[in-house]
Amino acid sequence: MSRARLRAAEPDADEAPPPERLTPYVAKALSPLVRRIVAPNPNVFTGPGTNTYLVGIDEVVVIDPGVSDPEHLDAILGCGGDRIRWIAVTHTHIDHSTGAAELKELTGAEVLGFGAKEGFKPDRRIGDRYTIDSTEFRLQAIHTPGHASNHLCYLVEEERMLLSGDHINQGTTVVIKPPDGDMATYIESLEKLKKLRLRSIAPGHGTLIENPAETVDWYIKHRMAREKQVLASLKKAGTAKIDDLIPEVYSDVGEQLWPIARYSLHAHLLKLAGEGTVKGKTLTGKWTFA
Ligand SMILES: [Zn+2]
Repeated sequence: MSRARLRAAEPDADEAPPPERLTPYVAKALSPLVRRIVAPNPNVFTGPGTNTYLVGIDEVVVIDPGVSDPEHLDAILGCGGDRIRWIAVTHTHIDHSTGAAELKELTGAEVLGFGAKEGFKPDRRIGDRYTIDSTEFRLQAIHTPGHASNHLCYLVEEERMLLSGDHINQGTTVVIKPPDGDMATYIESLEKLKKLRLRSIAPGHGTLIENPAETVDWYIKHRMAREKQVLASLKKAGTAKIDDLIPEVYSDVGEQLWPIARYSLHAHLLKLAGEGTVKGKTLTGKWTFA
């Protein structure tokens, strides 16, 4: 077989590296300061599972301890041991925060988060621009509401790496579920990231993102394009319920994801209602083009 035909049969066989497989319990160094351990909770929302990050070598902060699974907590301890001084969460959704209490018992580390919710209780409530200063690194919290109102991203200043929680994910869609999820603030929080001169994004789910500027731009464009579709569909219908709009607005998305997509569609409509272009309120009620 000629080289050209072989290449046609296997597109990009030479160029594209195989996608990275994320294996639970195995620590992987992403940079001199940051290591990742994937929790064993893969599903349609979490992709390969929730990422737990350890920042620092001599003094360690654990970001998103993930689920309360003994083997996962063992892996975190094996990696950070008695050098774990802080446990911080990006937000209180249970796939990110549940392991915090147990890890605190095992390490005595201080637990940090925006506030108490969903069974999570921080020792210290932190907000925008709070910094953790260690001898090796400075970690800055950035309040990024939208996916969750108590969402924080964390910037590793020395490496310009953003630990993005569920504000930005790789390989899975970020669900915006009202009322705690809010599309208008979500987009504002994406805009906020543009000023940070990032080198990489370490997401709450999926692999390291090495083109942060393009990724943030794509996230904003993608949401605005969806918003246009929502508006066009409702304009055509005049009045409709969310479940009637889904097949058209999310025709590019697999039907198995529609039960989740309806929340994001609701979030888009609430944003448009706030801007005065549509009228309506609830997930199940009627919406009208204004
Ligand atoms: Zn998550």
